[in-house]
Amino acid sequence: MTDLLLQVEHLKKYFPIRSGLFGGQTGEVKAVDDISFSVRKGETLGIVGESGCGKSTTGRMLMRLIEPTDGRVIFDNKDVTLLSQSEMRHLRRDMQMVFQDPYASLNPRHTVKKILEEPLIVHGIGDRNERKKLVAEMLETVGLSSYHAKRYPHQFSGGQRQRIGIARALMTKPKLIIADEPVSALDVSIQSQVLNLLEDLQKEFGLTYIFIAHDLGVVRHISDRVGVMYLGRLVELADGDSLYDEPLHPYTHALLAAVPVPDPTIKREKKELLGGDIPSPANPPLGCAFHTRCKECMNICTTVKPQLKEMKKGHFVACHLYND
Ligand code: SF4
Repeated sequence: MTDLLLQVEHLKKYFPIRSGLFGGQTGEVKAVDDISFSVRKGETLGIVGESGCGKSTTGRMLMRLIEPTDGRVIFDNKDVTLLSQSEMRHLRRDMQMVFQDPYASLNPRHTVKKILEEPLIVHGIGDRNERKKLVAEMLETVGLSSYHAKRYPHQFSGGQRQRIGIARALMTKPKLIIADEPVSALDVSIQSQVLNLLEDLQKEFGLTYIFIAHDLGVVRHISDRVGVMYLGRLVELADGDSLYDEPLHPYTHALLAAVPVPDPTIKREKKELLGGDIPSPANPPLGCAFHTRCKECMNICTTVKPQLKEMKKGHFVACHLYND
């Protein structure tokens, strides 16, 4: 299919656990355990799950900020996992990342001009004057002003800093933006402004987004399709309407129930649906990894791992409830 920008095939990341006097490997954490999905050009794919589910590791592996243990990442018809470090640096012009904490990801000793100019210099874009003009234009594009270029990150609010983080990601005119919890650190009132900005930029620049979040409420508005991850695996993947209106996986039901609703009584009742803590990825439950928290658990769930299957057109789920 020509409209695919990204294909992820059987991606895995296993981190070794070392202990003892000689630091020998005693186990492994399957942070990402065999996930596959694709993203069309101009689409926004939301990836959602609790902390430790592997969503951020997945995002970083797509850019090879973390090396995959196995699997393939095909971006723009190139297998990212086979590229050399220098080829990878070149490719990063087309795939950029926006991080959760803009303050931690912006060098506090650099002016905004220097921060935004850096990707241009790395990729050899423009001369001094052209870069200055591009920085000024990008600041206006993300809702700041060209005079902000002389200031330092600490002189901005959290929302403004995230706008700078977004501006930096856009400087090289990438095709894909991987946004890792880009609004989680912001006040609720600011979150919608940043989400609206991301939507406007998508239209203006024809961007494709992978939007990582721990809350289904946050990605609802912005995502065309949503994938739900639990303990390193994709458990459900569907277009936004199907996922929110007809969720299939018990974990998705529970996550949706945990999305805050205006009536506090409803919220409390529904929150009880997701009981217990997320198990350790170093020692995941056998069978369906969710069975220790699932209200629908059956015998088969404790021994047999469910595979992701298409139940309706474009709606995939990994759960034994749908075996027939
Ligand atoms: Fe629950 Fe079984 Fe489905 Fe897992 S496979 S989510 S334990 S019903």
